[in-house]
Amino acid sequence: MFKKVLIANRGEISLRVNRACHELGLKTVAVYSTADKDSLHVKFADESVCIGPPSPKESYLNMQAILAAAEVTGADAVHPGYGFLSENAEFAKICEASNLTFIGPSYEAIGSMGHKIRAKEKVESAGVPTLTSIKVKGEVTPEIRKQVEKVGFPILIKAAMGGGGRGMKIVRRIEDLAGQLDVARSEAKNAFSSDEVYIEKYLENPKHIEIQVLGDKHGNVIHLGERDCSIQRRHQKLLEEAPSPVLNEEVRMKMGLVAVAAAKAVGYSSAGTVEFIVDKNLNFYFLEMNTRIQVEHPITEMITGVDLVREQIRSAMGEKLRYQQKDIQFRGHSIECRITAEDPRTFAPNPGQIKLFHPPMGFGVRLESTACSDYFVPPFYDSMIAKLIVHDENRKMAIMKMHGALKEFVIHGVKTTIPLHIDIMTHPEFLDGRYDTGFLTRWLA
Ligand code: ADP
Ligand code: ADP
Ligand code: MG
Repeated sequence: MFKKVLIANRGEISLRVNRACHELGLKTVAVYSTADKDSLHVKFADESVCIGPPSPKESYLNMQAILAAAEVTGADAVHPGYGFLSENAEFAKICEASNLTFIGPSYEAIGSMGHKIRAKEKVESAGVPTLTSIKVKGEVTPEIRKQVEKVGFPILIKAAMGGGGRGMKIVRRIEDLAGQLDVARSEAKNAFSSDEVYIEKYLENPKHIEIQVLGDKHGNVIHLGERDCSIQRRHQKLLEEAPSPVLNEEVRMKMGLVAVAAAKAVGYSSAGTVEFIVDKNLNFYFLEMNTRIQVEHPITEMITGVDLVREQIRSAMGEKLRYQQKDIQFRGHSIECRITAEDPRTFAPNPGQIKLFHPPMGFGVRLESTACSDYFVPPFYDSMIAKLIVHDENRKMAIMKMHGALKEFVIHGVKTTIPLHIDIMTHPEFLDGRYDTGFLTRWLA
């Protein structure tokens, strides 16, 4: 099948994919913006091509420049990583039309899951529990008012094409609905080039628990258990752990089956994630499916021993899954902390020059990063500079290990979230595992 993979991304995920490709005997091509010319993701690839100036629009989102880079280097496959073009159905389609294997699901599957209202309708018909969505095209008509009152306040306005936790609006009173709809629509238009929004019941302080799935082009789909991603700021994940401290075996099984059903409903043939919110009674509701490898995939790798990126590449090559559901066993506990160049209290981005970078090390400690001493964190992209992952025999030991690793992690020159993560490791609510998506906001308020 394919022999040379163009990695259409930057930072740690580009390096992560580069490693998996080399382990499979594949050549790699890195692409980079002028802001990233000295980045490690460029240095460790076999070849590299500059695709434009710093602005993502003109570089990592620039389909023409990326396709041209594939053409001049003779790449025959594209790995999109996460973010950027990874969930762009049009990009996946153009890759295939240009004889480049897109390392991800079919563009049809991306398209079906990309529109959140349609995705919910699709999975509902496969028996997946969802929260009712109310479509609102124009004004708040008496009919919509009736539907909203039936669902009950608080409600959440969400963008149909949304992502990255952006553009969501909580509404607690009917008087605020019309105004918040206007705000949500204009934010959605700006961020996602579509002002289509919908309303669902806003669950107060739920858990975010997601299921990793893996499929192939022969109709097989398995799941690899859950990740608890309830430590969030602004609806964005900051820390994830697997397994979830609140699930029991019965609910875990149910969620796994439902996630596989959701994936099968769209003919899913790659690595992907089905996201749920879970209430206090462990009722779970489908949120969305991320049709790509996720930031927090390593914690699943640590407890299952399955290299998700390698398997994703194998599936794209047309190989059959090498695992059946019964082969997936869970061992121990894993935690990931997202280290971002941000103020640890306000989360204001803090790009700039890293003067000293000393990574933590040791048994069960894993670091995914392209940062190093003298690295300049550019202001143009996501502020995540490293993912620190630990694995140990149980949750208590994993927390102890993470605590130690965070204290060993030295980054001078930019503010980072390391101090916040250290505080989380000793917080009673985190220690007893019953934290929810409101935890961080309540605590830092
Ligand atoms: P994960 O569930 O993998 O953590 P995130 O929602 O954190 O996914 O997104 C991963 C990356 O993709 C982040 O850099 C985030 O900012 C970016 N991202 C996700 N969705 C979008 C989107 N629709 N538009 C722009 N960036 C996005
Ligand atoms: P995105 O595409 O931006 O990731 P999601 O639908 O996955 O959007 O939601 C992101 C986060 O927003 C969730 O993890 C959760 O914290 C919160 N959220 C989304 N929908 C709801 C809801 N109906 N009730 C409560 N919280 C929600
Ligand atoms: Mg999401």
